[in-house]
Amino acid sequence: MLLPLLIVGLVSAQIHPGEVSHALESVSVAGTSVALRTSEGDEAVAEQVRRVLPRAMRLATRWGPLPVAVALTVHPTHAGLEAATRRTGNPWMRAWARVGAVDLQSPRTWSRGRASDEALTQILAHELTHCALFQATGRDGRAGRIPLWFQEGMASVAAGERHDVARAEAIGSPGPFLRTDPAVVYGTADRAFRELVDRFGEDGVRRVVARLGEGHAFPAAFHGALGVTLADFEGDLVGRLSALAVRD
Ligand SMILES: [Zn+2]
Repeated sequence: MLLPLLIVGLVSAQIHPGEVSHALESVSVAGTSVALRTSEGDEAVAEQVRRVLPRAMRLATRWGPLPVAVALTVHPTHAGLEAATRRTGNPWMRAWARVGAVDLQSPRTWSRGRASDEALTQILAHELTHCALFQATGRDGRAGRIPLWFQEGMASVAAGERHDVARAEAIGSPGPFLRTDPAVVYGTADRAFRELVDRFGEDGVRRVVARLGEGHAFPAAFHGALGVTLADFEGDLVGRLSALAVRD
């Protein structure tokens, strides 16, 4: 189903001499208001974002809506993305999500110099899924102590990503892998969340999110919604991943 995309207004402003000029436009996609901000030189990227946004939004709202407006900013450089998100030292980072914001490094400055529609849809769907979780639970995951595998797996599965690697050690302590081998973190999260959906269905995920929204801590929300403790679910998964590693 193609969702209606409505461009409500276009405001373009030269801020100050020496600064990059920004274009700000308000776009409404499936009931969510998106304020899209792009810089001079990224006109084609802005057009591509507008084109893929309805599909990205549909993928991202699989387990919950986006009732709060989202500011989507396309930064012309990686440094710009780092400055806006205050996340430094992650050269592989291309985007970052908060409750009402997605910051994206312009695909013009990705290593390939562009993104396919598929790749752009995927990264926007991934980040907007984070926004949907944060909006539903009233907290962002870093503050809300939602395990990284749940956050990143939810975003990865919603966006239809494919990953090759999953490691047992990355379930409980993904931190050390984040800087050295982030693919392990994302691959493990993807694997864990797929198992969650396989075992408990789409409604199981919605029940966990709903209980988080009621203010329960993650382990209580998980147990209450699914009837299985978080420790048991993670333990099963660690066991299976360890067995696979031995066989390799
Ligand atoms: Zn993510």
